Amino acid sequence: MVDLKSQYEKIKGEIDTAIHEVIDSTAFINGPAVQQFQKDLESYLGVKHVIPCGNGTDALQVCMMALGLQPGDEVITTSFTFIATAEVIALLGLTPIVVDVDPDTFNIDPAAIERAITSKTKAVVPVHLFGQCADMDAIMALAEKHNLFVIEDACQAIGADYIFKDGSKKKAGTIAHMGCTSFFPSKNLGCYGDGGAIFTNDDELAKQLRVVVNHGMTVRYYHDYVGVNSRLDSIQAAILKVKLPHLDQYCAARSYAASYYSKAFANNPKIKTPAHFKNSTHVFHQYTLVLDGVDRAGLIEHLGSKGIPAMIYYPVPLHMQKAYLDPRYKEGDFPVTEHLCKHVVSLPMHTELDEEQLALITTSVLEYVNR
Ligand SMILES: *Cc1c(COP(=O)(O)O)cnc(C)c1O
Repeated sequence: MVDLKSQYEKIKGEIDTAIHEVIDSTAFINGPAVQQFQKDLESYLGVKHVIPCGNGTDALQVCMMALGLQPGDEVITTSFTFIATAEVIALLGLTPIVVDVDPDTFNIDPAAIERAITSKTKAVVPVHLFGQCADMDAIMALAEKHNLFVIEDACQAIGADYIFKDGSKKKAGTIAHMGCTSFFPSKNLGCYGDGGAIFTNDDELAKQLRVVVNHGMTVRYYHDYVGVNSRLDSIQAAILKVKLPHLDQYCAARSYAASYYSKAFANNPKIKTPAHFKNSTHVFHQYTLVLDGVDRAGLIEHLGSKGIPAMIYYPVPLHMQKAYLDPRYKEGDFPVTEHLCKHVVSLPMHTELDEEQLALITTSVLEYVNR
């Protein structure tokens, strides 16, 4: 699904030097590379504060801790996402409230959010799924009306632009009160291990986020809050500092592969290609088709026989996951998500796909679908 090796080979010299500089300096934890990358990312995103941390899951958890949310507080999120989003809500003893998604963009449906708001609702976590932003105009308007915090899960969408109704732009993850991203190796800006970051324009929240990631410590060895230990390694920061200037080109390469796929599948009645939401650019963390009248398992097997991987993101809706079963929800409650879980398939998507590979993948898909 990804080709991290070819991507590395193109920047090997710079990366190896950056890693060795950290090793030579032995500043493994919170070394200068971390502050330098933080500054670079702040300026790339046009956001006031970047708080690096251990991974994207920690980033989400730390945001909720910084808000001081209490057990019983409700947090609304999408039924069609990676589990991390709901996991941290549950871990903190908060109540995950699940809502359905838009059938075209697969992103959280603002009308469904509004219907789910109760007196206990404290926060909303929209996920910018597969690299395209959720409807942030509508979500921020709801948040203002109902006095809610919004935490963007931008783990799959770093680099995407959100275009507001008035034409102004902001980077994914910098729109709401806080935003989160992951530097997991296969993400659009991936390091060579685990990493993550939180974004905010709010000085007070930034201060609190920095306290929470550092054991709840305000003054050295004085702990005013229960915190966590969540850091971005200096070596990972040094790698990310080298990779960040390539991010826009990486997004363009993904976008090129996506348009090749979409052109090849255009007008095929059995294949729905990714829809473009007018208020966001798409950085194609995943390229995901919705099949109609195609045996999905058969297609995946057919592709596999030709050495082409294909994956299902995600096979089980949040409310049907064993660990998250809740008497509040039953099968059928989120028909769009449930339909998607049964019919989506994601094709290889990364920065190194060439014409030959794209031609093989598209002809192999069509061969099976049209037979
Ligand atoms: C990857 C991902 C996460 C978690 O990131 P990690 O760095 O793996 O902890 C959270 N949410 C979404 C939507 C993701 O894709």
